[in-house]
Amino acid sequence: MHRSNLTRSERWLERGLGTVVLLALALGLAADVRAQGVLNLYSARHYQTDEALYENFTRQTGIKINRIELGDEPLIQRLRNEGANSPADVVLLVDAARLWRGQIDGLFQPITSKLLTERIPAQWRSNDNTWFGFSSRARTIFFDPAKVKAEDVDTYAELADPKNKGKVCTRSGSHPYMLSLIGAIAEREGEAGAEAWARGVVANMARPPRGGDTDQIRAVAAGECAVALSNTYYWVRLMRSNDPKDKDVVAKVRMVWPDQKGAGTHMNISGGAVAKNSPNRANAIRFLEYLSGPEAQNYFANGNNEWPLAVGTPLANPELAALGTFKPDPLPLSSVGKGQVAAQRILDRVGYR
Ligand code: FE
Repeated sequence: MHRSNLTRSERWLERGLGTVVLLALALGLAADVRAQGVLNLYSARHYQTDEALYENFTRQTGIKINRIELGDEPLIQRLRNEGANSPADVVLLVDAARLWRGQIDGLFQPITSKLLTERIPAQWRSNDNTWFGFSSRARTIFFDPAKVKAEDVDTYAELADPKNKGKVCTRSGSHPYMLSLIGAIAEREGEAGAEAWARGVVANMARPPRGGDTDQIRAVAAGECAVALSNTYYWVRLMRSNDPKDKDVVAKVRMVWPDQKGAGTHMNISGGAVAKNSPNRANAIRFLEYLSGPEAQNYFANGNNEWPLAVGTPLANPELAALGTFKPDPLPLSSVGKGQVAAQRILDRVGYR
């Protein structure tokens, strides 16, 4: 085998083609084939419908996806540690606070995609074309109708009002979902306004912050708190559950869209970016573009009971649709992410742990 290769090379040499040229051609071709074939995906999302999402991409493009699934924080940490040697092509994260962190830490690279800027409205992507939102969630208020009236808990401001003393439950203030909300309040009302709000919420707490969003909703059903904050998809997940315990929670708790007469309900996203040192950059862009298509939008958003963000994508989730329409806060998500620096300072000052 080796011998015959040599002989063939020698024949080429005789025809006047240098082996160096041949070798360079062969290597170049091999690299090109690799580049067309693979996508290394770092994902903080892991839902069942994502399987179909990835399989369809491979079927359509022939590009094989190597997946690394981690929690949001470990994923960002891994990217930082790998630095210039990172094999990551695409990074999927939830919450603008984390996407913005990746952006300013230089973990992503800006991309030019006419398709993405046409399909994803400017509100839902970064101001430097590094990250793009592909689905959205709202941060809404949940309450026990036996304990409080909807009109007393239908604004974020009222969670900090003394009339709700001893009634409020939230998860940890330093969780990205809370950082983004406080950051959004700081963007609108200034740092002093957001600090007054956070101080008021701490003063109104039924118990120290603990657990995730679903735990806050369950705590309302259990009578531990009268009002709580959660992202919408956790509520829809409970609505879709066949577990009698979840059905009982849904029966006892009501949801209200906050700030409908004011700025609108606080919104956040799941999003993606091309990694700074992506070895398969063209494939990475192609994957993000694929995520903005109607079929992928459906899988991506429905997989976590979120709203699809690409212009013109129909909502094919009856339980989510049943929540109805509402006025979302139009604040750009890049501002929401940026606000988390002020938010962290505020948390430290008011002792919102
Ligand atoms: Fe979540």
